[in-house]
Amino acid sequence: MDKKVYERPVIIKQYSGLMNKFGGTTDQTPIKDIDGVSVKQLVEDFGSPLFVMSEDKIRANQRKMLRIFKTRYPKVQFAWSYKTNYLDSVCSVFHQEGSWAEVVSEFEYDKARKLGVPGEKIIFNGPEKSSSALIKAIKENAKIHIDHFDELYQIIEITESLNLKANVAIRVNMDVGIYPKWDRFGFNYENGEAEAALRRIVVNDKLNLIGLHTHIGTYIMSAEPYRLAAVKIVELFNKLIDEYDITLEYIDMGGGLPSNNTLKGQYLEADQILPSYEQFADAVTSPLFDTKLSGDKMPLLILESGRALIDDAGYLISEVIGNKRLADGRRAVILNAGVNLLFTSFWFKHKIVPAQDTGGFTENSSVYGPLCMNIDCLREEIVLPALKRKDHVVILNTGAYSVTQWMQFITMRPKVVMIMQDKTVELIRDSENLEYITSPEKLPEKLKEFSL
Ligand SMILES: *Cc1c(COP(=O)(O)O)cnc(C)c1O
Repeated sequence: MDKKVYERPVIIKQYSGLMNKFGGTTDQTPIKDIDGVSVKQLVEDFGSPLFVMSEDKIRANQRKMLRIFKTRYPKVQFAWSYKTNYLDSVCSVFHQEGSWAEVVSEFEYDKARKLGVPGEKIIFNGPEKSSSALIKAIKENAKIHIDHFDELYQIIEITESLNLKANVAIRVNMDVGIYPKWDRFGFNYENGEAEAALRRIVVNDKLNLIGLHTHIGTYIMSAEPYRLAAVKIVELFNKLIDEYDITLEYIDMGGGLPSNNTLKGQYLEADQILPSYEQFADAVTSPLFDTKLSGDKMPLLILESGRALIDDAGYLISEVIGNKRLADGRRAVILNAGVNLLFTSFWFKHKIVPAQDTGGFTENSSVYGPLCMNIDCLREEIVLPALKRKDHVVILNTGAYSVTQWMQFITMRPKVVMIMQDKTVELIRDSENLEYITSPEKLPEKLKEFSL
């Protein structure tokens, strides 16, 4: 048996709030390995901070979600939301699982093409599409989801002047009971804007209307909004059949399903309050049976799920730089990873778990990052056992939006590895260095010399 870790005795003032109706104990099981690979070894080989992605978990998540939807609706296609995590290796795993690409910028579009995704399997969303991006996307038969009237006119101009035909859908926003409403993207359903856009599209012989799209928000915490959204989209779908004799290929219900991460305002943990993915799938798919089509003719259901498929497949390993006592007596732990690497900690209470055995005594603590900035706080309050300098922690649910929203601020971005299904570990993004960061910089001749 390993020797117990010695902890010096401490006397601390007790604050109300530490106990709750579920008692005061905290699960202190350390996370010593990820997918069977030891955290210690990962740090020895790749340093810290270190982002770790699990190939196994990504595939399992995608397969599970596909199964949940496919058992409820016959034609389902996922499209990986690039902005959620667009590391090549991550996207490739999704493409190997059969997912198309869902992109929201020319950069993401090019990234998907470079990886080998054919144009017709790219869904091009977002409010900003440059003319060069549109020309490329039209020529490559991408599915262009129009966001607003100016974009529609821009596409009409391009198709006219270059004599091209574009595959288009419109993004529709609607009141689904979520406030504030996400009405800044797409055409509104209730005020008739969506229909007005469709009328303009169907009379244009250079525009091939192939689908309807909505994406009602992100981290949606109940299933009902999806049902409402699907009902409204199906209404538009049927109207196109009735009034214009146009049958669309697909209905794209977007993403927005929650992950197992806990929001800051949430009292209970995510898994205790969120509906199951099965309930979400019921809500999305039930109204689709009300289209005027049946059997083979039923529209393809496209889903652009992001965070729900990747959040728990990502880990951030970080090292304890030091401990300190704040003026009010609270314990503070300083880590070598901060909000620069974990932008999502502004919204989420990421779970932080020690990576080695600890003593039994826990204390309410604040967890800070390495930046010389007051806002660099990962958790204002978390119950943690004593951690000493050079100990490691594993931060959970960091797969979504962290390696895309991370900032090169004060420090450089660290390595990202993927634990493969055969338990080998592959470096999938190297750490940045001074040369990489300064390479786009230009120093004018006149500023090159100084003497101090
Ligand atoms: C961001 C985004 C997604 C993915 O959203 P999640 O909340 O991560 O599932 C899907 N579709 C569109 C249009 C998006 O902008």
